[in-house]
Amino acid sequence: GRRHDVLIVGGGAGGQSVAASLLKRKPDLNIAIIEPRTEHFYQPGWTLVGGGVFERKDTVRPMEQVMPDQVKWYHAAASTFEPKQQQVVLEDGERIGYRMLVVSPGLRLDWDAIPGLRETLGSNGVTSNYLFDLAPYTWDLVQSTRKGKSLFTQPPMPIKCAGAPQKAMYLACDYWHRNNRLGELDIQFCNAGGALFGVADYVPALMEYIEKYGIELNFMHNLAAVDGQAKTALFKVTDGEGQVSEIEKPFDMIHVCPPQKSPKFIADSPLADADGWLDLSPETMQHKQFGDIFGLGDGGNTPNAKTAAAVRKQAPVVAENVLRALEGEAPRAIYDGYGSCPLTVERGKIVLAEFGYGGKLLPTFPNWLVQGTRPSKLSWLLKEKMLPWLYWEGMLKGREWLAKPEILAHNPAVQDTSDACDW
Ligand code: FAD
Repeated sequence: GRRHDVLIVGGGAGGQSVAASLLKRKPDLNIAIIEPRTEHFYQPGWTLVGGGVFERKDTVRPMEQVMPDQVKWYHAAASTFEPKQQQVVLEDGERIGYRMLVVSPGLRLDWDAIPGLRETLGSNGVTSNYLFDLAPYTWDLVQSTRKGKSLFTQPPMPIKCAGAPQKAMYLACDYWHRNNRLGELDIQFCNAGGALFGVADYVPALMEYIEKYGIELNFMHNLAAVDGQAKTALFKVTDGEGQVSEIEKPFDMIHVCPPQKSPKFIADSPLADADGWLDLSPETMQHKQFGDIFGLGDGGNTPNAKTAAAVRKQAPVVAENVLRALEGEAPRAIYDGYGSCPLTVERGKIVLAEFGYGGKLLPTFPNWLVQGTRPSKLSWLLKEKMLPWLYWEGMLKGREWLAKPEILAHNPAVQDTSDACDW
């Protein structure tokens, strides 16, 4: 069978960034990527498609254009892992061997967990920015909705880009505000969780917009079913005592963020933790059980915000540690849990949430330039003009602007502590 120095599963944000980072460090490395899709998506752009700012075509490129020339592309889906034999099995049964494996499979949008949803997506006023095909429908609906009830839903965590469900809502409200429609509209945010945003420092700025737009907040409201023909949505509502009841809400339009799970082939594999996610060490991104396997991105169980911004910082860490592991050494590059969520509170302004493990604020820019917890025009320009370019030309080309990993001076595994008292 075939064998590569580094085999990468998934050619999305994580897989491509790691390949580029590796090649930057070692141009002659023998790398292969397993990726079934012919298109590579810039998913963070979909919020702006749904808000009428980007065209759908701005968020996609052919996979062959993104794939580095030196990389062998297996245009196929991985079906399972045989870590003891150091090989990955493709869906047609072919086995590909490796010395080091990097897994970045993304996550699975579980549309079928909500009965009635899949059948009506894209019609009857039911939309989602979580699909390339549907984000333009969000913008159509925003423009055509003049009165009645608009619902925006958020499922239980974890989800990718936890702010995306409310970003869709704010951009819609901004349009309705500019067109004097807010008075005729009943807008509701129905969140399965109990807080507007997971990091409390950003909530006050968001609450100002909730009030400005007159949005009703419904916490502990978990979407359970959709009837497209009748235009109703059923929610399971948990009260303070943990009692669950059901509420049906009619809608004129509904933006759904679907429940999100680990991809099945990961959950069923020896690489998964009890919840089905890749079981990774949060700092080194190395698999907890298999030293020759690393992972990153939305499919991992590291407790960071599942974002492309996180991937931007994780990829160089993985690249450093993979190269070290190829030399038989312990990993020394460290990821601090950085993730970012540019909250599009109105067209032209963003609250740029940037934080690491434990909700620690990790702003990229000094406070005088961008005040992260406040709405900022500069942050909007960053999102609209800079970040797509940073993605295609920075991350995917292995240029690590603002993403240099922290490297420990010593191998943690071989650190000599016998003379630790000489301080
Ligand atoms: P992906 O980029 O999804 O790539 C996974 C790849 O694995 C895919 O190409 C897939 O085809 C492939 N794959 C799947 N199964 C297999 C298999 N069996 N074998 C081989 N390959 C397989 N992030 C931000 O930083 N900022 C934002 O503002 C932002 N907004 C977002 C808004 C929306 C609406 C969405 C949907 C996402 C947003 N994100 C944002 C999140 C960001 O897109 C993801 O966090 C990022 O793409 C994760 O990278 P990944 O490599 O883990 O997964």
